[in-house]
Amino acid sequence: MVVPRYVASVDPREAPAHEVDAVVIGAGIAGLYAALKLAAWGKVAVLYKGAPEDSNTFAAQGGIAAAVGLDDSPDLHAQDTLAAGAGLNEPEAVRTLVEEAPSVIRDLIEQGASFDRSDGEYALTREAAHSRRRILHSGGDATGKGIASALLRQVGRHPNITLWEQTMVVDLLTVGGRCVGAVAVQEDGRETVWHVFVGAATILATGGAGQLFARTTNPAGATGDGIALAYRAGAEVRDLEFVQFHPTAYAGEGAPAFLLSEALRGEGAVLRNRDGHRFLENHPQRELAPRDVVARAIAKELNQGEESRVYLDMTHRPAEWLRDRFPNIYDFLLGQGVDMARHWIPVAPAAHYMMGGVVTDLDGRTTIPGLFAVGETASTGVQGANRLASNSLIEGAVFARRAAERARQEGFRRRRSLSLKGPEVADEGFPSSVRSLPDPRVPGAIESFRRELQRLMMKEVGVFRSGDSIARALSGLGRWLPSLVYPVRNRAEAEWVNLLTTAFLVVEAAQLRKESRGAHYRHDFPETNDTEWRAHLVFSRDRGAYIREVDR
Ligand SMILES: Cc1cc2nc3c(=O)[nH]c(=O)nc-3n(C[C@H](O)[C@H](O)[C@H](O)COP(=O)(O)OP(=O)(O)OC[C@H]3O[C@@H](n4cnc5c(N)ncnc54)[C@H](O)[C@@H]3O)c2cc1C
Repeated sequence: MVVPRYVASVDPREAPAHEVDAVVIGAGIAGLYAALKLAAWGKVAVLYKGAPEDSNTFAAQGGIAAAVGLDDSPDLHAQDTLAAGAGLNEPEAVRTLVEEAPSVIRDLIEQGASFDRSDGEYALTREAAHSRRRILHSGGDATGKGIASALLRQVGRHPNITLWEQTMVVDLLTVGGRCVGAVAVQEDGRETVWHVFVGAATILATGGAGQLFARTTNPAGATGDGIALAYRAGAEVRDLEFVQFHPTAYAGEGAPAFLLSEALRGEGAVLRNRDGHRFLENHPQRELAPRDVVARAIAKELNQGEESRVYLDMTHRPAEWLRDRFPNIYDFLLGQGVDMARHWIPVAPAAHYMMGGVVTDLDGRTTIPGLFAVGETASTGVQGANRLASNSLIEGAVFARRAAERARQEGFRRRRSLSLKGPEVADEGFPSSVRSLPDPRVPGAIESFRRELQRLMMKEVGVFRSGDSIARALSGLGRWLPSLVYPVRNRAEAEWVNLLTTAFLVVEAAQLRKESRGAHYRHDFPETNDTEWRAHLVFSRDRGAYIREVDR
């Protein structure tokens, strides 16, 4: 795939420039927590696309994992994380996560986050593939909102932090191979203004890529921007074939794919097919098997025919208990006409979490000096081929703190002067005959491209994949490649470029990995092949695709 290096339709030397110590891109848990830590040492600009609520963090329900229970330990947390990750986790990254998680939880509490208690102790719940109750939660099933609101309060009142709402980063700026900041477009519904942000450290914290698929639990802004931005700038990205499909998103007619947290199954909900048969009864972990296993079991049931349905049955609990423990889910379902205390809930898998991302070391450093990546957009090596439930909020926080500390050590105060040598839009020659199509600037074109891409990805590279379906996806995406030559004028166009770029990387990775592992399942290669494939698939703009062994 050939992508232009820069896509913004602006010369960065002509846009107003803002000089800070750190440019943080994203206002989810990773961006906000990094900003707070960085602000202890210097000026920080936090840029985010929509409102603060438009993040995966705000949507997070179930909880945040840390070995804080009396019967728990970081070792057990590591074991569970490694087991779910199917041989692709980086052990050092996992160790860092589990050892630092309890202290990050204490720090989040100091920052104002509060977690639910029962009998004076923190109420710990259990989720799929966790061997202990180790999930802290907030507001019942509103954990992400609870944590993000606390961080936003701190960030909002910090004199060293400036928040830039409705401000989308369109390009990362590099000079001499070093990242020096970002070009962003700010849209407030009336006008579109371009800005340049320059900083000694640039922190990518842009979240996930669920919008690649027609059914997703992610908000509209989860368009894989961090992966596409970093890839265009020359950074390594990896493990992109591993997209986690959450098994139980609401599947009511015409309704959004609202997440029905795993914590429901942790509290005893069971899965039934249309005939009431509990089809996971014979699996050793039953409904609490790893997410990929449960998602495939559900997808298989649903593939039986037009009339097939799968339901989550939580009717063993009374309404009062459900309203108290899962207030958001309870209210959402009631709004859909489903009383979960009495009715089974229709569910189907939905794209939920991107295991892969921008390659980082244990301090969030990418392969481009000056550029850090944290949170869901990063690939620290923690998640392997399949994320353990509730391990992503904590990953975002643990590595954001480390990245902030590293940025400081690397001469954070040494601001770089703005000497941008007019980045050239590297239009690397599409044949002139196709240059005029497909044009994303035609009214309505972007919306329809986006919908078609999502349907294509869902159908051909969703829960199940095969060589044939992957080939269809590649040829479908290929039709849109020429659209990448048009300079980007606004958020919608920039998101389209990022979706297409990330989709290509996901599909190319799925094609190359000729085995099944974790969330990547191929009908034509149903077995895991450790001899050849216990390795990361890495992509970079300059070097193409290559394989790198997992550290053992
Ligand atoms: C419904 C749901 C439930 C979940 N439940 C849990 C759970 O219980 N426990 C758990 O651990 N995980 C859960 N997850 C996963 C978890 O919420 C996310 O992985 C995590 O919150 C990601 O945090 P983040 O800071 O990396 O990104 P996000 O929280 O997604 O934030 C991304 C930020 O980047 C901004 N952004 C994106 N692109 C750009 C750009 N180009 N320019 C400027 N800004 C940009 C966005 O506007 C946003 O502010 C859940 C996810 C979903 C969707």
